[in-house]
Order: sequence, then C-alpha cells, then structure tokens
Amino acid sequence: MFRAIVVEKTETGSAARLAELDETALPEGDVTVRVSHSTLNYKDALAITGRGPVVRSFPMIPGIDFAGTVETSSSPRFKPGDAVLLNGFGLGEARFGGLSELARVEADWLIPLPEALRPARAMALGTAGYTAMLCVMALEAHGVTPDKGEIVVTGANGGVGGVAIQILHHLGYRVTASTGRPQETDYLKSLGADEIIERAEFSSPGKPLQKARWAGAIDSVGSHTLANVCAAMKDDGVVTACGLAGGMDFPATVAPFILRGVTLVGINSVYRPLKDRKTAWHRLANEIDLEKLDLMTRTIPLADTIQASHDLLDGKVRGRVVVEI
Ligand code: NAP
Repeated sequence: MFRAIVVEKTETGSAARLAELDETALPEGDVTVRVSHSTLNYKDALAITGRGPVVRSFPMIPGIDFAGTVETSSSPRFKPGDAVLLNGFGLGEARFGGLSELARVEADWLIPLPEALRPARAMALGTAGYTAMLCVMALEAHGVTPDKGEIVVTGANGGVGGVAIQILHHLGYRVTASTGRPQETDYLKSLGADEIIERAEFSSPGKPLQKARWAGAIDSVGSHTLANVCAAMKDDGVVTACGLAGGMDFPATVAPFILRGVTLVGINSVYRPLKDRKTAWHRLANEIDLEKLDLMTRTIPLADTIQASHDLLDGKVRGRVVVEI
C-alpha cells in the first residue's frame, strides 16, 4: 500500500483527498520510484482544487514533478538506489504524478538527479524553476545579452518569477520585478531584483505601443500584462511567455512585432527533449544560489497539499512549496 493525493470526479467537478492505494493501481512503466519530494506548482494547484481543466482522466494522482530513488527498474539506464528526478510528460495530468509515495514511469522521462542538488532542493526548483531556466535560455538563444538592457519579470513573487530573478541577476542582467505584492520588495531585492514595479501598471488595457523600456521579458501572467509588456519592448526585444496566472487571453496588437521587431517566444516545459532538460537542470544545479533558493522555499507534508493549493491560487504563497512525501 502507498499514500497519495487522489483527484476523483464528482457530480459538480472533482475533489481531492489523501488516500491509501494498492500498488496494482500504478500504471505500466519501466521504473518504479520511491518519491521523497514533490512540489506544488500552479498547475498542481489547479488540478487539486479543480479550478482549471488540468486533469485529463480520473482518478488521477496529481503532481507534475518529483524527486526520489529508483526502487525497481527493467531499463538498463537506471538501477535500484539511483537518485532521479522527473518533470512534465503529462505527469499529474494524463498519467499518475508525483504527489505520491510511489511513482511508476518510463525510463526515458527520468533524468539522474544532478550531483549538486539534493532531492529537496531539486523540488524547490521544480517545474517552476526549470521553466524559468528555459525562459532564460530562450532569451540567450535570441541574443539578449546583459548589455542590451533591462529584463522585466512578471509574477515576481511566484515560483517561476523568483527563480527567473535569481538566474538573471547571477548572469549579470539588470532585472525589474513586477508584482502585486510591493510589501515583498525587500525579499525580491534579496533575490536579485534591481527595481520593483506594481503589477497594476500592466494589468489594465494599455496603448499598442508604449515607451520602449525592456530588452527582454519573462512573463508568467498572460492577458493584459503580456500585451503591455510586448508594447513596451525596445527594438528587437524578446518576450518569453510561459504562464497564465492573470488570464489565458492575449489582448494585444501586432504593432510591437511589425514596428519594433519584437519576438514572442512561447515556452512549453512539458514535452521538452531530454537534451534540453539535462542542460536546463545542469545549469540550475550550478547557477542557483542555494541560500536564496532556501529563502523562497517552504516545506509542507503531503497531507497539507490540498489547503496549500487553495492558498497558492488565492495569491497567498510566496516562492516555492516543497512537499515532503
Ligand atoms: P505561482 O507560484 O502561483 O506564481 C504566480 C504569480 O503570478 C503570483 O505569485 C503573483 O505574483 C502573480 N499573479 C497571481 N495572480 C495574478 C493575477 N490575477 N494577475 C497578475 N498576476 C498574478 O505560479 P508559478 O508556478 O510561478 O507559475 C506561474 C505561471 O506559469 C502559471 O500560469 C503556470 O501554469 C505557468 N507555468 C507554465 C509552464 C510551461 O510549461 N509553460 C511551466 C511552469 C509554470 P505577484 O504577487 O508577485 O504579482
């Protein structure tokens, strides 16, 4: 038997509970992992609360990522005792995920835990941190170097935002953090933000073209925020769009793209090739200041994940939530 959070269909939608399951409930797969840590990402909170259509089949164990130790493996790539991590590939959406004592997955989805990271720290980064790194890599790939100008990071108090600020600061970029919680200014500056601006500057409809300010952007908010960020990019600026914390719509015009040569890069962390995954995790392991990461991380037991999911979607969580299984 093993414990897991289970989301079940109800007449009005879905409901989550902490349950005991038999191992026969696990799906087919090459590798069985004893999960030590998972984390609460925005998507997990949507799945657990039922506030967003994340779960594609019921019942579902949520949790889009985990770290742990291989228990059994029929793949030559892994052996019992190996420390591993996994994020994406539909875990917690279409396939049983990481908020569980046991997970059975395909060997091709797993990567060895980078040596510099313990499982708890890997999950302090989690999909949010990994996505922040993918955004930074996309800015670099499109030629946004620190000398080109300021980078704006929206949703700064969130998981993606906080890790993005740290990485950019470490790489020498000047970072402006946009937040709805200006009371967290000291915290955001301690992560590496040079300047703080209020979320309200971005969250209402704005002009199609605005004063050119940013060389790059990492946006996890979407909607008017993403439109306003695009409108205030410098010539040839690059916007990475990875989230929808403020809304799924994109009420923008083509003006920034055709008049300033702005590039909008979409970031999807879920089905990324293994090579990109390894690069991103290797860089995270080596470029993150672990003390700063600890500053933005809270740890909770599995039983607290349902309440914490509501808190996260209500904007009451700062940084990252690690779930100790
Ligand atoms: P999170 O920790 O909940 O952070 C979201 C942040 O957005 C909040 O802390 C808040 O920051 C801001 N925010 C919340 N509600 C808002 C609203 N109504 N309007 C404007 N800002 C709002 O979530 P996360 O894990 O960082 O994820 C952020 C987004 O990225 C989510 O939409 C998530 O689904 C997405 N994501 C996508 C991928 C991908 O593969 N594309 C991967 C990971 C995450 P402030 O209080 O500082 O304003």
